[in-house]
Amino acid sequence: MPFASLGLSPALVAAAGALGFRSPTPVQAEAIPAILRGTDLVAQAQTGSGKTAAFALPLLQQLQGTQPSRRPRALVLAPTRELAAQVGEVLQGLARHLPHAPRVAVVFGGVSINPQMMALRGGADVVVATPGRLLDLVEHNALSLSSVGLLVLDEADRLLDLGFAEELQRVLALLPGKRQNLLFSATFPPGVEQLAQGLLHEPVRVQVAESAANTPDITQRAIQVDAARRTQLLRHLVQEQQWSRVLVFVATQYAAEHVAEKLYKAGIYASPFHGGLSQGARKQVLQEFKDERWQVVVTTDLAARGIDIAQLPAVVNYDLPRSAVDHVHRIGRTGRAGESGVAISFITPEAEAHFRLIEKRQHQAVPREQIPGFEPTQSPPGTPAPGTGGIKGKRPSKKDKLRAAAAAQQPPSS
Ligand code: AMP
Repeated sequence: MPFASLGLSPALVAAAGALGFRSPTPVQAEAIPAILRGTDLVAQAQTGSGKTAAFALPLLQQLQGTQPSRRPRALVLAPTRELAAQVGEVLQGLARHLPHAPRVAVVFGGVSINPQMMALRGGADVVVATPGRLLDLVEHNALSLSSVGLLVLDEADRLLDLGFAEELQRVLALLPGKRQNLLFSATFPPGVEQLAQGLLHEPVRVQVAESAANTPDITQRAIQVDAARRTQLLRHLVQEQQWSRVLVFVATQYAAEHVAEKLYKAGIYASPFHGGLSQGARKQVLQEFKDERWQVVVTTDLAARGIDIAQLPAVVNYDLPRSAVDHVHRIGRTGRAGESGVAISFITPEAEAHFRLIEKRQHQAVPREQIPGFEPTQSPPGTPAPGTGGIKGKRPSKKDKLRAAAAAQQPPSS
């Protein structure tokens, strides 16, 4: 199916072609016509499935039909600076090929606000922003959001959750009540769904059914290892698997520094990437990773969402993520745009129960493996020593006992 059949103008079809997009991905095929009709929309589609262009193309087309104005008519919010920059690049890359190219301003924190204020002075048709800096700019009178007719929340569930709730409410209060709202993410946990409903007016729901053709080709592996031997195992895998690049997720900024340093000292080009670095350093590390100048980047969940690194063959969960939702986003950094990838999780005895929970939420069972020379020496906590009787999981927990007591009080069902 060609892009033209979705209702996009010849100029936008050509702009998509200039970025190498010849035919729409499933989420683009479904979302673009609905957005062009002007309806609110919630789109849930797998990581790496082309969600950015799914809103960027119709957004630009809608701007083409409106009167020029100094005030932005479309606003795209993203939860991280890197993602805002990436979305801005796609919009700018498309806009460049259009007649009367719409002006795309990208604003985020961690860098001086003055150049952003200067850039906005000339006017912008679209603003791509992280919420905090956007509010700062409004407070500095560098920007008015009173003409925004189209709002996009990229990684919408993250923007709607607690961490951003207050800032998002403040942004929403600055927007006209009558506007089109578009929500995109690979995940919409149930609690967030309800919040989203409050924002939307009769939304169209796009949920690209998983099929072999559009499910990211990510092979998951779960390797059992003692916590203290993870860095050595990582080093062994990097050397043995000869990945051109690998993104490693850890739990803290300190761990990112520590693991990267250990690998670097062992002769592997490894760099940390986390929110404790200056924005200049963050930008440089990500760009150098994309340019294949770093083989390993060790990061926190800062890099879990949205970041698009072409040909990233492997992701490693050195520490497991807190939630199954984070797991979906982390492993989705590989296997993007039809490529294949491997996602390896290190399962320490302490983390076994948590990984089982992640597997359950994802309706997946990942076989456990052990690598010769790195077999765990400890048993999961709570496992009785051989011969002491009792099997973990068979003894009723406090919760099980409460449930049993409650069930005993229920009248038998008819
Ligand atoms: P996204 O999910 O928006 O981050 O996109 C994932 C990757 O797919 C990016 O590298 C895009 O450049 C690429 N992509 C998006 N749409 C298309 C398309 N229609 N054809 C080919 N590649 C695409």
